[in-house]
Amino acid sequence: MGFLNAVYELGKQSEGGELASFLKLPLPFEKTGKPKKGGNEIRIHLIVENVNEKPLNVIGVASVDLVDFMSGEKDVEKWKTKYLYRHPVGSNAWWEFTPIFKISKKPPKDENKKRADFIGNNNGWQSDKKTHFFKIKNKMLMDYERSGYFSQGSVDRIMENLESKLDRILDLFSESESHLIIFGVEKDDDFLYPGEIPAFIDYFKEKMNSQIKKGKDEKKSVSIKARRCAMCGKETTTFVNLNKVFNFATFDKKSFLPGLDENSKLKVFPICTDCFKDFSRGRERLDREFLDGRTIPGIKIWCIPEIIGPHSLGSLEVVVEQYKEYVSKESTGIENMFNSFAEFENKNLLFHFIFWEQKNAKELVHAMVEDVPPTQLRMIEGCWRESLNAIETKEETIQKTERLSTALKFVYRTITDLGKKNEAETKHLRDLVVKIISSLLNGEKVNVDSVKSIFVERIPKLLHEKGEINPFFEIRNMFLIIDFISRFNSEVGK
Ligand SMILES: [Zn+2]
Repeated sequence: MGFLNAVYELGKQSEGGELASFLKLPLPFEKTGKPKKGGNEIRIHLIVENVNEKPLNVIGVASVDLVDFMSGEKDVEKWKTKYLYRHPVGSNAWWEFTPIFKISKKPPKDENKKRADFIGNNNGWQSDKKTHFFKIKNKMLMDYERSGYFSQGSVDRIMENLESKLDRILDLFSESESHLIIFGVEKDDDFLYPGEIPAFIDYFKEKMNSQIKKGKDEKKSVSIKARRCAMCGKETTTFVNLNKVFNFATFDKKSFLPGLDENSKLKVFPICTDCFKDFSRGRERLDREFLDGRTIPGIKIWCIPEIIGPHSLGSLEVVVEQYKEYVSKESTGIENMFNSFAEFENKNLLFHFIFWEQKNAKELVHAMVEDVPPTQLRMIEGCWRESLNAIETKEETIQKTERLSTALKFVYRTITDLGKKNEAETKHLRDLVVKIISSLLNGEKVNVDSVKSIFVERIPKLLHEKGEINPFFEIRNMFLIIDFISRFNSEVGK
């Protein structure tokens, strides 16, 4: 429960209005201030009769322009509100939450192909389901008209204008890997984003509510009787299951998230829609603020702080602020978040660590360590420092390498280097590293013999192989790890 509570609290104390928990950024965003693969917005400035009315009477398109994704101030919460974006419910849906059309592949170099992507060959886009224009009209805009958010004829007027501005659009559609075509409203020479337009906001709300209701109807047999929400205790008939928040595939780890137990007909972890909002928001913050993907390449680690005891909300905010400040420094970054966590002195503070892997749409959990106090992190760091001092020379042991994040990355690198060139072996060794690191965090003795035997097996091979690995350094690194683990084990035994 520790982990779930922590995510819940994280969501609860987020800022933002009623919709905030449902919103996502349309493209991934990294701390560097740039989306991963670049990203451009092609903005379609609609002319409307009155931006505050419903339906919006769209007269035409004033202009089309190009800006960077999240241009200007990089305030994620503000941008989420502006974009008003949420991923479509599926590729077969005939509507989207927001009038933002995503093109995530690089534009073709060939001008004719580029044009054909939009309007098909011989301008046959009206019946060519693969073209961008067909999708924009039929799978996005038309539903605004059908459900009374656009006046009759608005979509045809928009499409006619887009056709006449196609050359301009094609000019803007270049280079970047990802493009967003965003429909907004031109007002006083300014561009209003979907989240600044009342009709679009109401449309989003209507769609979101029907999604929640749909979830309820599907599980009618379960939700027909009023039950209590597992988080807040409120009695309600509308429940959401946790798999809407976490798509964990690892059902053998049922015990920690009971709501994921498929065999449990009653879904022992029903949450009400209010708590669902908090969970969704917490999950979104986890991915954005507390996700480390660099300590063990291929494995994502969520590290979530939780305050136990009274007045938890206030002090959690302080911890989160302090942590954010730490990782936003240029020299540290999220890849060193373990260092930051080891510095906290708060006695009521605990951390939860989830090691998982993205496998298509599923989230595969490798390990979960709950309730780790900062003192435990400092203890691990202390053992590492002693080992460095014992084995390395003074010049080699610079202060930076004495930190916890370096220790964990060093364990990963040294052990997986042994399996180089062999994918299956590397994966096996990586799993071993996950086990070692989760034992360290959990304060359990690490099986040092298994680590030794892996080294012993591979040393002869290393010595005979001429390759990128210098056997002298490799062997010394192994000694360092064995020394570190042994020190840790004797600390645990105390
Ligand atoms: Zn609740």
